Amino acid sequence: MITAHAIPILSDNYAWLLVCSKTGATAIVDPAEEAPIAAAITAHGGRLDLILLTHHHGDHIAATDAIRARFPAPVVGAAADAYRLPRLDREVSEGDRVKLGDSEAVVMDTPGHTIGHIAYYFADGDVLLSGDTLFSLGCGRLLEGTAADMFASLAKFARLPGQTLVCCGHEYTESNARFARHVDPENVALATMAAKITALRGAGKPTVPSLLRDELAANPFLRAPDVARLAELRELKNKF
Ligand code: ZN
Ligand code: FE
Repeated sequence: MITAHAIPILSDNYAWLLVCSKTGATAIVDPAEEAPIAAAITAHGGRLDLILLTHHHGDHIAATDAIRARFPAPVVGAAADAYRLPRLDREVSEGDRVKLGDSEAVVMDTPGHTIGHIAYYFADGDVLLSGDTLFSLGCGRLLEGTAADMFASLAKFARLPGQTLVCCGHEYTESNARFARHVDPENVALATMAAKITALRGAGKPTVPSLLRDELAANPFLRAPDVARLAELRELKNKF
């Protein structure tokens, strides 16, 4: 079974340390800052089996080569984005499987934030690495893809089991919660979640991972009934 541990990096990013509880195999997702990631790997025994990339932005890939140099491990990323990612040892696309210890992830093609964005889903452990596609109570900006792309990507996530842990790329939850409450003020599930988020941030703790079932109840972008509403929400959020 895979467990996921958030590593706070840069100003508001998360890299993730994944551990296979049976074999001790580990992976790092989106290594963008060397020191805290190296420290996390060392603290978990110094073993690294895999490096997973979600998309090409610097705040997700910047320390890939530095981490690979210190802890040699194959780097996996989107075939479609190989030209703008660090050198990939394996290029993957929708439906491919990536082994970590005795578990494996399914690769999901999730365009919207960027065209080549992918996510990784480990059914064994209910871990979803959603990158900058789905955030807690938000979604990524549409920098390359369309609202229709993002709608389809979020719909894929919505079909995963409710107990799925959403391991996203940023700590944007508090500001996302403010926007969500602005557009959906009567939502009780959202109000409950917002209160928890305020408490966690007040204690200096990460708000992630969140549960997919909570996101389905409270995240306005996941709850958008159609592409037009998602596009409208994304526009409103950009100006909020
Ligand atoms: Zn990004
Ligand atoms: Fe990012």
